Order: sequence, then C-alpha cells, then structure tokens
Amino acid sequence: MTDPIRPQPGILDIALYEGGASHVAGISDAIKLSSNENPHGASDRAKEAFSRTVHKLHRYPSTDHAALRQAIGDVHGLDPARIICGVGSDEIIRMIVNAYAGPKDEVVHSEHGFLMYRIAALGAGATPVSVPERERTLDVDAILKACGKKTKLVFIANPNNPTGTMVGLAELERLAMGIPKQAMLIIDSAYAEYVEGYDGGADLASRLPNVMMTRTFSKIYGLGGLRIGWGYGPKDIIDVLNRIRDPFNLSTSQLETAEAAVRDQDWVVQSRSENARLRHWLSEALAERGVPNDTSMANFVLARFGSEAEAEACDEFLKKDGLIVRRVASYGLPHCLRITVGDEPSCRRVAHMIGLFKAGASA
Ligand SMILES: *Cc1c(COP(=O)(O)O)cnc(C)c1O
Repeated sequence: MTDPIRPQPGILDIALYEGGASHVAGISDAIKLSSNENPHGASDRAKEAFSRTVHKLHRYPSTDHAALRQAIGDVHGLDPARIICGVGSDEIIRMIVNAYAGPKDEVVHSEHGFLMYRIAALGAGATPVSVPERERTLDVDAILKACGKKTKLVFIANPNNPTGTMVGLAELERLAMGIPKQAMLIIDSAYAEYVEGYDGGADLASRLPNVMMTRTFSKIYGLGGLRIGWGYGPKDIIDVLNRIRDPFNLSTSQLETAEAAVRDQDWVVQSRSENARLRHWLSEALAERGVPNDTSMANFVLARFGSEAEAEACDEFLKKDGLIVRRVASYGLPHCLRITVGDEPSCRRVAHMIGLFKAGASA
C-alpha cells in the first residue's frame, strides 16, 4: 500500500480561472469586449522594438532587468532599485504571496476584488478573507475590522476590476496606517494610467514601509499577450522578492518591448483621453437604455441588470450578434456584465444591441 499522490492543501479549493472569451461559434468577426484590452493595441514604437528582438533570440535575456527598470524609473520618477519586473502583474502578486504568506496566514481582499488574490493565497496554503464592499466600492473600515493577528497581506485594486470604482489616496493611506504591524498593503494599480493625475499609489509606496504597488503593461499599453508587469515598494521587500524570482523570468522580447512602450507616453495620453470620451458616452448610453452603472475610472463599465437571469439573457443576445462581454458571477456580481470600452463603432454597437434587448424584454 502506498499513499496516493496529493497536491498541497488549498490547491483543490482553487476554481480554475476563466479568462474573457474571445470566440463565438459560427461568427468570424466577433468583437471582444471581455478582457479590458486596449482596442487600438500597442504603440508602433513598442511593436518596432518587439520586431528588432528577433535577431537576438539565441541570447539569454538580462536577469537584472536594469534597462527596463531604468526606463520605468525615468518615466515615473521612481528609484529603479525599488522596482521588480515580472510575467504580468500576476507574477508579482504570486511572488508577494509566496514570500509573505503560508499556512495559518490570512490574505485579505475586498468582496469584488480581482480573483488572482484568492488564487495565489490558496496556492500558497494561506487563507483568503473576503471583506464586504459598500455599494460596490472599497470599505476601508470594514477591511480594517477584518484584519487581525493572522493577517499578512491586504490586496486592493484601485480602480477595482470588475467594479471600476476607486477610493482616494487619503483613504489608502488611512488603510496602510491602520493595518496590523505584520501586514503589508498591496495597491494593484493595473488601471492607474486611465486616471488622469493619479500616481497609482507610488508616493505611498515610496514613503511607507508597508506598502507595495503593482502595475501592468497588459491594459493601457496594449501588451496583454506579451505578459509584463512590475512592482514598486520598500527596498527590503524588493530584495526578498528577487530571491524567489526566476532569474530569466522575462524574455528579451518582453523586456525590450516594455522599455519602448513605457518611453512612449504619447500613446498612453492618447489612449487615456480616447477611453475617457467613449467610457462617458457608453455609460450614459446604457443608463438611457435602462441599464444603471457606477462611475467607472477604468477602461470598462459594469452594467447592472435586474437579475442574474436577465444578465445571462442579455449576454446570450449580445453573443448572437458577435459581441463578447464578460459575465462576472465569479466576482460575486451575477446580475452584472462587464463591458470593455472598445473603439467607437464597438461602443455604439454594444449600446444599440443592449437597447434592443431591453426593448424586447419589456415588450
Ligand atoms: C488585468 C489586471 C491585472 C493585470 O494582470 P497581468 O498579469 O499584468 O496581465 C492586474 N490586476 C487587475 C485588477 C487586473 O484587472
């Protein structure tokens, strides 16, 4: 008799992550509004840098990411020594959890927070703790109340996915100051570039010893397919994360494309203003058609329906027309659909079809 092969405790509690769908059976030109991608893709400078790396594919990449960290530091006014780069911000999140939480430790996140926090916590054998929000918005007092002796990490996405809501930096600072001494606050700023004048928590992570910020090239930079993210925080925490980081975690193509992308801030500015214009239009168009939605600070809108059945029916109706949006039942929002702000024709089409759906439903 031998013992069966078993995974570590917690692993089987992880529900498989389902990304936004990208195909509809029988439709070849579906419009994908399900993964918060930049509808205009990456900047030309980033694409040119990617192309040039084809000549270096036989060489191992840099292990210290010095050039990319310097570029990020220059653009954001940050100390490159306090930056770490990873395979999407997902890898940064995973490294933080693996280094700082384990069995008997608690990882706190908000009710409708990003699913990766729970997945990474369970993967490390730690216990995820979900804290209720107020009107789909972070409730700092509720988070503070949920923290205790076992709390090691507190994850907040700001703006949050899939709600699109955010809280001010003063609230985040109050949270950082109020959590227990042994706990770290991670501000996930995947959508920070969409908020004019917002530093994503960089200043807090510069000043406070218990705050980390994570960022990504997957959203406004239009590089989700390439997988690059970064984190910024206290030097001692960055040093810990570098000990568990794979030495060649990023390829030459990832590093050099990201460097060109971050140095092309014109693309970011243009993408932000186009997104703001169309997000405003889409939000109002949905409200006019009887679909309420909170003020979103990101590149998507969370459309609320009367019931789970209505959200599901609308999702099916849109799919038949080749429009792919995101169901968010796994985020505790079964009556909602998350709609990425696409290009102008896509926004008009999705609003038009939802209008038809609502008219049909009430007829
Ligand atoms: C999309 C997203 C990310 C980005 O993940 P990557 O691994 O960098 O692609 C991180 N956090 C949140 C909340 C997101 O929505």
